[in-house]
Amino acid sequence: MLGNFIFLYNEDRKIHSKMTLEEKKDLWKKILTALEPQMRSSDFRTWLSNTVIITLEHDKLTVGCPSDIVRTQLAAKYHQLLLKAAQGVEPNIAFIDYEVDNSLADGGDRVVSLGTITGVIKRALRKEQVEGVRVADGLTTRMLNPEYTFENFVVGAEDRIALAAAQAVADRPGKAYNPLFIYGGVGLGKTHLLQAIGNQILKKDRNKMVIYTTSEKFTNDVISAIRGGVKKIDKFRAQYRKVDVLIVDDIQFLAGKKSTMEEFFHTFNVLHEAGKQIVIAADRPPRELVGLDDRLVSRFQSGMIADVYIPNLETRIAIVQEFVAREKILLSSEIVELVAKSVKTSIRDLRGIVTQIAARVRLSEQSSDRELWAPTRENIIDVLVRSGNAVVTQVNVQQSIPVESLTCDDFVRAAADYFQLNATEIVGESRKKELAHARSLAMWLARSELNFGFEKIGHAFGNRNHTTVMHSVRKIQEEIDQEPNGVTLEQLRALKAKALGAN
Ligand code: ADP
Ligand code: MG
Repeated sequence: MLGNFIFLYNEDRKIHSKMTLEEKKDLWKKILTALEPQMRSSDFRTWLSNTVIITLEHDKLTVGCPSDIVRTQLAAKYHQLLLKAAQGVEPNIAFIDYEVDNSLADGGDRVVSLGTITGVIKRALRKEQVEGVRVADGLTTRMLNPEYTFENFVVGAEDRIALAAAQAVADRPGKAYNPLFIYGGVGLGKTHLLQAIGNQILKKDRNKMVIYTTSEKFTNDVISAIRGGVKKIDKFRAQYRKVDVLIVDDIQFLAGKKSTMEEFFHTFNVLHEAGKQIVIAADRPPRELVGLDDRLVSRFQSGMIADVYIPNLETRIAIVQEFVAREKILLSSEIVELVAKSVKTSIRDLRGIVTQIAARVRLSEQSSDRELWAPTRENIIDVLVRSGNAVVTQVNVQQSIPVESLTCDDFVRAAADYFQLNATEIVGESRKKELAHARSLAMWLARSELNFGFEKIGHAFGNRNHTTVMHSVRKIQEEIDQEPNGVTLEQLRALKAKALGAN
């Protein structure tokens, strides 16, 4: 196996530049084959398409990337995996360097076609799944991600109940709360909690059959069972009903899918009656799941319902610290706080920012010729602005009272004053454009500046449904994102100043 390369290194480094294109492709293909099962296949395709080996000199492999984004991602996120995979194939490799070569973007002869790899991988992955988590024959499931544990779930006041419920379920599956229903917006830790439950149960008892699936995956399973005829349906039912713990993520996507809901309803009942644990997550509470069978909704309501919120500033700081520790980089507490203050949309976004920062820090550490990038305040603000998060620093105004002491009403009054509208009408029913806009701005401020949950904001704004609030807040966010120095941001700044009495 590549023995001749090893021999050549020791002889004369230069000879390596003579590694032929075919040899490079062959080596890269082997490395990719080793790497693929360890990545999500969408990530694998996204980040490894059109990458190549540029050189292998001595113990250093230089990987060519079609763009700067790919280079950053590989260096930041996949470096360890890639290095391990490379060493598995070629133990001499000690370093990997990443270079951008834009001409790779169009593919061409130098590139290994990923299609030739995935077949091998699928098989390997399936084998690993069967070995890793006990899965019934032919039952498709996604592996639990071992990264999602209770230990690295940082808990704030907002999530305490959800975490406690999840832990109780993991400790006594089928006995504590059944079903457990967790809901909340995107990127707030639902999947993390669900997977932590699965991981914890398996940690204690490897023989438990834990299935983590999404409602989309469940739907696909149902569809393919139906296509396969009676026998296949019976098999499908039998398989799902054998599990000890059924975890279904993003159940909202079952809406409107009649036969899938029917199947799920029966599976649910069988498992529930047998005392098997069911855990469900959704983006909203059961009663708001439009398009879902009433009988399913009532089943969900019969158990424990807990929500996850965007955490308050202190918790966000703790979360950023956790992410920073995971990335093994150093950030000053001032920077940690700046990031935690600025990113209020979701924990996923917080994670994204820390990953980006870590990528830059690492790239800068690795290279001697590239210019040094340090996580200074200016640089971090730059990262935040680029990812559409700098609102906090931009909305900052001279203030005499802490913004935390404000309420929704303060923003409503500020909007009324600024736009010369009636405050009661702003929280009222009218859909008139100017009222709706003033309302949305005030909601965005309540969300962003006060960290209020959507439910709470809905309540303060004439008892509106939380999805309506989410929609309005998102609309304003999109306006800011599209035009980072536009009118909307100007208005938000003015409203905030008014609410703070600063003008
Ligand atoms: P959701 O399923 O609600 O959309 P995820 O569970 O996928 O969100 O969370 C997004 C990311 O944020 C994941 O990387 C997850 O590990 C991380 N995360 C979410 N909540 C927490 C938390 N409380 N502590 C630590 N990490 C968290
Ligand atoms: Mg999720």
